[in-house]
Amino acid sequence: MARIPVMKPSLRTARTFIAPIVRGDAAARSVKPTLDFYGSAAWKKVRLEVQRACGRTCQGCGKADTRIYVDHIVELRDGGAPLDRGNLIGLCAVCHGKKTARERAKREAQHA
Ligand SMILES: [Zn+2]
Repeated sequence: MARIPVMKPSLRTARTFIAPIVRGDAAARSVKPTLDFYGSAAWKKVRLEVQRACGRTCQGCGKADTRIYVDHIVELRDGGAPLDRGNLIGLCAVCHGKKTARERAKREAQHA
């Protein structure tokens, strides 16, 4: 009997990506080349600095007392500086989601 695929928690999906990278699998790196960066101590440090500077206030819409996602203004895949505070902005979940979708749409339009 075939198993019906059900929606799994996203954490499990993330782990399947991380495990091969820890082993140094080149193919996995090409799938998600920035993943190593987001696990780095340097990124965690600068992310915390930006979050502290924001004081839990979104730099996009001004929403206060919210979880802050530290976003690259010019995305890494577009050549943005990874650890430059000038290229980082603290956004709420809504603003971060909108920006990510906008960047993706722009990229897809360029490659269409
Ligand atoms: Zn916002």
